[in-house]
Amino acid sequence: MLPAELQRVDRSQLRAAVGDTTFQRGAQYARQGAVAEMSWRPAKNALYGTVAGSHGERYVTTVYFTGLGAAEPWWFDDAQCTCPVGADCKHAVALVLAAATRAAGDGPARRSAVAPKGWTSSLSALLGDQSVEDEPRSATPLAIELTLSAEISAGRSKRGPGGPSLSVRARLVKPGKTTWVNALSWSKLSSPYGHYQRDDYLATHVQILREMYAVYLSGQEDTAYGAYSHGDDKYLDLGAFASPRLWPLLDEAAAAGVRLVHGRKRLGDIERYGSAELCLDVTRHETSTALNVSPMLRMADPNEAVAPFAFIGDHGVVGIDRAEIQATDRHEDWHIRLARLSAPAPPELIQMAVANKSLRIPAAERPRFVSEFYPGLRRVARIVSSDESFEPPVIEPPTLVARADFGPAHTVEITWE
Ligand SMILES: [Zn+2]
Repeated sequence: MLPAELQRVDRSQLRAAVGDTTFQRGAQYARQGAVAEMSWRPAKNALYGTVAGSHGERYVTTVYFTGLGAAEPWWFDDAQCTCPVGADCKHAVALVLAAATRAAGDGPARRSAVAPKGWTSSLSALLGDQSVEDEPRSATPLAIELTLSAEISAGRSKRGPGGPSLSVRARLVKPGKTTWVNALSWSKLSSPYGHYQRDDYLATHVQILREMYAVYLSGQEDTAYGAYSHGDDKYLDLGAFASPRLWPLLDEAAAAGVRLVHGRKRLGDIERYGSAELCLDVTRHETSTALNVSPMLRMADPNEAVAPFAFIGDHGVVGIDRAEIQATDRHEDWHIRLARLSAPAPPELIQMAVANKSLRIPAAERPRFVSEFYPGLRRVARIVSSDESFEPPVIEPPTLVARADFGPAHTVEITWE
């Protein structure tokens, strides 16, 4: 809670302390919603906040006040900031003015003052008249941007120590002049201090994305690796989206006009997700009669050859057209394909697919593979043979036979075998 006294901060004294230019710029920042967070430390009579700079940087600003007496407005005392200016800067002004507005509970109050009063308001709301809705006319649409990331990380590598960790990151963006630009962090969608930023965006978009974020968070078992460790969630790790509710939520988002886009604007929108199955492909070894067994992503559309880049929980996959991978190894230039898996993929199979591993079965072991392993493998994943070199054995279900033996004197003996 911010102290109510903040709304009566002496603005002319603040203006005199920082200078006209800084004050005006700070006021503009406050109007633009640059202040991301604010909190009050009573012991120090200090206001803490984070303020977005003009290039998306985030500065931590602290402002100290002097309370002269109950009847007098508070005075601005001193401000420190992590920006290059360092003290008494426009970020401090923005923080003070935003806090004053917030302390006055200005947000909801201003809205109700603008809305029509009495019966016209009730009737218009009943008729679904958009003109009296809260939605600002200039509200900005939100989009979800997906980017592929191949980071060399020792900690959470999926390919063993030192290997690249492949992941797909999701960020909330808005249309910029030439590119998609950062909009707001996922956590701001529902944070109590987020409304300064949320209010700029289409309420329907905020609502569906907030739901998506809540489902994402609900699937995070360990907060150490989960969202909270970043404090401010600019990126979600799409692979960590444990719930298959992702797919209906993506449908809803698309229906509400939330676009799903590539980081590179020229790559355009990401196609609606398809359907795929993670199979085991049994093929003949190039030089011998040995068999190769490797995971293969089979798209519902047989014309598509897509390689898995990363998996989404056990229910989805982020894939890339094989032709594009051949054309360039710059992953920024690849089109992203999303597919929902028709059956949950076992973790071992996902590991094999991500590591691009295959098993080799020597020719001599082939009968053993067929008799001992094939029936079990068949339950793990569908077995296919892309080069048609392997004919899956027909496994007959056990049959029950009734045998009738006709004995003397019209007796019948029936046995099961
Ligand atoms: Zn500053």
